[in-house]
Parts: sequence; structure tokens; C-alpha cells
Amino acid sequence: MVSLTTPLIPHTFGGMKKKKEFSKIYELAAQLQSLRRRATQLGMFVDDRELLSCAKCGLEEDVTIEGLLIVVQPSAPGSDTGFRFSPVGKSKRRYRCPQCKTILMCGNEA
Ligand SMILES: [Zn+2]
Repeated sequence: MVSLTTPLIPHTFGGMKKKKEFSKIYELAAQLQSLRRRATQLGMFVDDRELLSCAKCGLEEDVTIEGLLIVVQPSAPGSDTGFRFSPVGKSKRRYRCPQCKTILMCGNEA
């Protein structure tokens, strides 16, 4: 005979286990987020958006072998101009070209 409490015990236990696993995942996600922030501060490209390229003047972003984000002229790939595309607004979908000031759309605009 199966008592009424039998199915409740594994269920509760499973719930507790999931909660523990979730907090572990949450902890990892928080660590990843802080790592990303640090990498961005160091000038690294953390792959949270696509690389920008200005359709008007040709200025474009590139990533070095070391993972650093650089902005190059198409005529001199691999040579960092020191320019950086700056985000416009808070959506992180629009960027301004530092050279010709054109506003670029990043990613799939909804
Ligand atoms: Zn431009």
C-alpha cells in the first residue's frame, strides 16, 4: 500500500533541490555579468551585440586576436583609429559613428 504522504516527500525534496540549483545558476550568472563588465572596462569585446560598421564612411569595428575591440578604417584593417562608436539612448541599438556622426542601427530593430 502506498500512503498519501509518500508522493509528497520526493516532490518537496525535488523542489528544494531545484531551488538550490537555481541559486547556483543565479550565482554563476552574476559572476558572468561582473566578468563581462570587467572585460568591457578593459576594452574587450564581450559579444553582446554585433560589430558595427558605418555604411556612410566605412569606419568599422573589429576584434583583435587578444579580444580587444578596435575601430578601423577599411583602408587600414587591423590598425586601431582610437575612435569608438558611442551608444545613443539607453536601448543599445543605436550608435553614432565617431567620424561622420551617422546614427547606426545595431541588430534587428523591432
Ligand atoms: Zn561614419
